[in-house]
Amino acid sequence: AMASVARLDLDGNPIEPMTICMIGAGGFIGSHLCEKLMAETPHTVLAVDVYCDKIKHLLDPEEGQEASRGRIQFHRLNIKHDSRLEGLIKMSDLVSSLAPWNRSDSGSLLAFAFFNVIMCVVEQILFSLQTINLAAICTPADYNTRPLDTIYSNFIDALPVVRYCSENSKRLIHFSTCEVYGKTIGSFLPKDHPLRKEPEFFVLKEDASPCIFGSIEKQRWSYACAKQLIERLIYAEGAENGLEFTIVRPFNWIGPRMDFIPGIDGPSEGVPRVLACFSNNLLRREPLKLVDGGQSQRTFVYIKDAIEAVLLMIENPARANGHIFNVGNPNNEATVKQLAEIMTQVYAKVSGEPPLEVPTIDVSSREFYGEGYDDSDKRIPDMTIINKQLGWNPKTSLWDLLDSTLTYQHKTYAEAIRTSLAKPAAS
Ligand code: NAD
Ligand code: UDP
Repeated sequence: AMASVARLDLDGNPIEPMTICMIGAGGFIGSHLCEKLMAETPHTVLAVDVYCDKIKHLLDPEEGQEASRGRIQFHRLNIKHDSRLEGLIKMSDLVSSLAPWNRSDSGSLLAFAFFNVIMCVVEQILFSLQTINLAAICTPADYNTRPLDTIYSNFIDALPVVRYCSENSKRLIHFSTCEVYGKTIGSFLPKDHPLRKEPEFFVLKEDASPCIFGSIEKQRWSYACAKQLIERLIYAEGAENGLEFTIVRPFNWIGPRMDFIPGIDGPSEGVPRVLACFSNNLLRREPLKLVDGGQSQRTFVYIKDAIEAVLLMIENPARANGHIFNVGNPNNEATVKQLAEIMTQVYAKVSGEPPLEVPTIDVSSREFYGEGYDDSDKRIPDMTIINKQLGWNPKTSLWDLLDSTLTYQHKTYAEAIRTSLAKPAAS
């Protein structure tokens, strides 16, 4: 029924069904985007990721997902570009002229397998009209402790994707981050300076704000810096070679399926982003940890609001190409400490359990994240460009988005946590 209703873009033109290559489709944002595309559009998704747990319900149309039948295909691939690539590209001539491969040579077998992975990604991009790249290491606990993996993942691994899009004239929607802005200008002023209250000193504008990072030993910024350089490269491909691109800068998108709960569906020692850290603490009835007092400020947007913005970009290329878009909710600002307080209240409501007497504890960033951590002080997105180009505005309040998200967390994890806490520690 859905395909028969003509979908119109913002200029009133019918939208043709398209094939989208989505890299990182099995992650938090990817899973919501796949769900939206299956439920509300006739488009086809070639979903690339190393994991598919978060989109299983779409891949297996048994569960009443009739509408997605045949329109989503999962390709389990690691797009990682590593030191073998140069050799492989040089060897790639040999693939056609010297086949079959010498199968006793495990080096070239590995090389062959790796070459196939790269070719597979190229194929996915070639079959599709547009490519969306979400793949990244994007949890702060990794930026200062695994800086090499972070830089490789966010810059080096994205290079072939940009190149294949440029060479094959495929449109690219690339996911960057609000973290490319780094710290606010105001953060360098004395604490009580009146200019700190002026929007020019803290509101982050795509086409005007500078990118302000800490020193090199503050390895926190390895992520922001890698993302900034890939943005510049994509922009340059647009300017010099005509690549059609859109860059998205998410500002703390949160909701169901974000990250993992340590010890339940992820490593017990793992440190996810703040929503999952605090959810884990609430589920286990332990105090929420405030890093350096929880004074940093964030604006949180509900994943379902943010996905509406991405769908507008997908379906309105003429309005989105060549643009960098902030996507966030400037009305949902809170310090991390306030976030902890609101989550504590909301969780008490959805679980029916009374809040802890001591709901939070302070922890130093060095203890929590290790050497080289640093933080963004404040993140208010300017919404002028996305508003003008796509008419998008976020809708959901912080309380409401935490209400639906913590309802999901409670329903999904409370029982598993109870069971794991009841087991002896040795298991
Ligand atoms: P996520 O970690 O849930 O999703 C990323 C996905 O990419 C994962 O499923 C992962 O398996 C996959 N991936 C990583 N490396 C890969 C590889 N080499 N080959 C194949 N797949 C690979 O994170 P997310 O929150 O969905 O973020 C998606 C994108 O948005 C990232 O680029 C991130 O930097 C950006 N972003 C998100 C937020 C946010 O608020 N959630 C904020 C800023 C930026
Ligand atoms: N944070 C915290 N306690 C936690 C996890 C995170 O106080 O258990 C803080 C972190 O120091 C940062 C903010 O919460 O100031 C947001 O962290 P997140 O991991 O979500 O990513 P970011 O917004 O920094 O990219």
